[in-house]
Amino acid sequence: MSVRTVCKTLAMTVTFAGASSALGYGLGGHDLQHAWSHATLLFVISACLSPLLIFPLVRKTHLLLDAQRRLTELANTDALTGLPNRRSFYQSAENLADHETALAAIILDIDRFKDLNDSFGHAVGDRVLKEVATRIAVCLSAYCPPAIAFGRIGGEEFACVLSGSLAAEVEHVSQALAEAIRSAPVFVDGRQHRVTVSVGYHLRLEDLDLDEVMKQADGALYAAKAAGRDQVAASDAVSTWNERLRVESQSAA
Ligand code: GH3
Ligand code: MG
Ligand code: MG
Repeated sequence: MSVRTVCKTLAMTVTFAGASSALGYGLGGHDLQHAWSHATLLFVISACLSPLLIFPLVRKTHLLLDAQRRLTELANTDALTGLPNRRSFYQSAENLADHETALAAIILDIDRFKDLNDSFGHAVGDRVLKEVATRIAVCLSAYCPPAIAFGRIGGEEFACVLSGSLAAEVEHVSQALAEAIRSAPVFVDGRQHRVTVSVGYHLRLEDLDLDEVMKQADGALYAAKAAGRDQVAASDAVSTWNERLRVESQSAA
């Protein structure tokens, strides 16, 4: 029995007993003494009996709210890694995309993960996935949490959306994420596994919706894979934009 349940029961009991005694006072009519004794009697009876009715009600409400909270949590969490799942990621990312003009998306995919599964088994693959997820979460916790949406969006694929002033740091965050995975081997049952990710990112430069931004980041991920994996690639649009800026700053100098 939680303290909250007891307090709520007590508060409701006092309210109920108070209301009963007011009713008793009213029923007492014009005789003041009669009215007071009615009020006192009804107060005592309802104060003794009402917890029996109110307590199970309050407790049931608490249990229901608790179950609802846990269900929502389960529906939004990836069971293996504990990260937000695809559904939850897209919900948070849509929210950022709707409210922030500056937006960037990063997609990470573990390199040659099938080979790891084939060589060491799915259970080892699962442990590696969990460790990669933890490193992503730790790395992102260094940045402003309300400006970020992230999650596991597929088998060995993770995504992150940055908003506000953080969006401009997308290259830096992408490199930090790749480095967080690359920097130390993953230990499973005493064996070291060298794990790397390929990363693609896109910074919203025009009025694109989230799906379009993610598509551009996915194209960049494809380019990172094609270029040999374990690297970060910007989308074509961002690369062109950066190149234009570079040329402009050179000609200005
Ligand atoms: P690439 O570098 O091109 O991304 O190669 P890859 O092997 O990582 O990609 P591919 O798409 O060929 O294989 C992905 C593998 O990820 C295959 C699938 O069995 C594995 N996988 C997906 N989800 C899970 C999971 O939850 N646990 C484990 N252990 N493996 C998973
Ligand atoms: Mg892969
Ligand atoms: Mg993949």
